[in-house]
Amino acid sequence: MIEATRIKMLRDEPPREGGRYVHYWMQQAMRAEGNPALDYAIETANALALPVLVSFGLTGGRGPNYPDANARHYAFLLQGLAEVGATLASRGIGFVIRYGAPPDVTLEFAEHAAVLVCDRGYLRPQRTWQASVRDRVGCRMVEVETDAVVPVETVSTKHEFAARTIRPKIMRLVEDYLVDHPQPKVKVRAGDLGTTSDVDLSDPLRTAREQKVDQSVGPVRRLQGGLANARSRLKRFLGSGFDGYAENRSEPHRATVSHMSPYLHFGQISPVEIALAARAAKSAGQDDRASYLEELVVRRELSQNHCWFEPRYDSYESIPDWAKKTLDEKRGDARPYAYTRDQLEAGETHDRYWNAAMQEMRDTGYMHNRLRMYWGKKIIEWTPSPEEAFATALAINNRYFVDGRDANSFTNVAWLFGLHDRPWFRRPVFGTVRYLGDNTLRKFDADAYVRSVEELSAAERA
Ligand SMILES: Cc1cc2nc3c(=O)[nH]c(=O)nc-3n(C[C@H](O)[C@H](O)[C@H](O)COP(=O)(O)OP(=O)(O)OC[C@H]3O[C@@H](n4cnc5c(N)ncnc54)[C@H](O)[C@@H]3O)c2cc1C
Repeated sequence: MIEATRIKMLRDEPPREGGRYVHYWMQQAMRAEGNPALDYAIETANALALPVLVSFGLTGGRGPNYPDANARHYAFLLQGLAEVGATLASRGIGFVIRYGAPPDVTLEFAEHAAVLVCDRGYLRPQRTWQASVRDRVGCRMVEVETDAVVPVETVSTKHEFAARTIRPKIMRLVEDYLVDHPQPKVKVRAGDLGTTSDVDLSDPLRTAREQKVDQSVGPVRRLQGGLANARSRLKRFLGSGFDGYAENRSEPHRATVSHMSPYLHFGQISPVEIALAARAAKSAGQDDRASYLEELVVRRELSQNHCWFEPRYDSYESIPDWAKKTLDEKRGDARPYAYTRDQLEAGETHDRYWNAAMQEMRDTGYMHNRLRMYWGKKIIEWTPSPEEAFATALAINNRYFVDGRDANSFTNVAWLFGLHDRPWFRRPVFGTVRYLGDNTLRKFDADAYVRSVEELSAAERA
């Protein structure tokens, strides 16, 4: 049974007479298993004795582009969608993928639907698209939340102040949501529904290269999209990297983190599935399991809360007033170094450890959390104004990370500037916003990290 709190009626009309299928507009949850919106569509279709059609509207190509998306992002997304198409076919569910603005593609197929089901995204583009479909569609439309362990508005009805304020609200509810729901089977298999796709998923990398998007940031070997890849990576992590996570997760040169963030960003794996697997893992201690769930559930859902309740989440305006005030007071402080965005992206600073972090991000699409903090704090220190630093950090973050452009991206960049944090000791440039100095690099083997980046970059070039 899908939790009632995941389900929201967006257009309350009886199922359309003569509808040929139940239509699931896939947007946020790009997976064919562990997907409550798909399960809901199947249950609805079974009750109406109809097949299910899943549609995906792809920006890029001939259509409008998704903000900041490039070939790296498209490659990962298309790898995942190729798997979705194959899995849906094996489950007797129709799948169509078309170039175009997602609302237009959805409305075209919704014309013949008895019911339209959609999933839910927390960021502005997805919210805008959903509102546009809701206002124009002529049939029942139901939203099913797929992206959080505990749905955002079930946790809280306001913008939360910090992890400590949201944690008890999540923890009170989390057990009710950590449930492995059986996957429903379709009663009516989808035959020829008269739909044709125009996106070629037979070779996702080639299709990614053909998109009219920024091709200068290309696919990476280190991260390959899709649920099967997510599951095998998770299995490896839980089998060998999880023991000691609570302590080792802060050591970038050890590969003891799960790398689930790109898969979560594209909705290619359910956060509930990850949480259940982590909770059941015998390979780690109680501390490790608790620490992982703190990141996956509390920190991740704090980010979703921020983007849902703060309309200015992608601008400097989203940082707290105390932080704006203190950064403003320090606006005139001399910066120890000043770099342009181009110099930063090229990794041409005086700091070889920072340059290595930038290289990891640029060449492989990923960076460890501790280094993301160091990387971002230095951008504040080396940029003429805090507003410019915010814009630069966010742009680089979203350009190179496969998990970029996520609620986590906007929230964590704002964290660099004091969001969800408290005032610390007063410093030049930062005022009372938390500063991270070179001692951050002494807490792990920074030279081993630089060597590991060289190896990762070489593997990308091989
Ligand atoms: C400046 C800065 C920028 C960041 N940009 C992004 C970004 O663009 N996209 C992104 O997904 N994350 C971002 N993060 C958060 C975090 O660094 C990544 O989620 C994490 O490193 C992903 O690696 P992992 O999946 O191996 O993490 P693991 O340690 O294995 O954690 C498991 C999961 O918990 C969640 N998680 C872990 N750390 C955090 C955190 N600090 N905040 C919220 N959720 C977290 C993620 O969903 C992650 O996949 C950023 C952090 C900072 C400080």
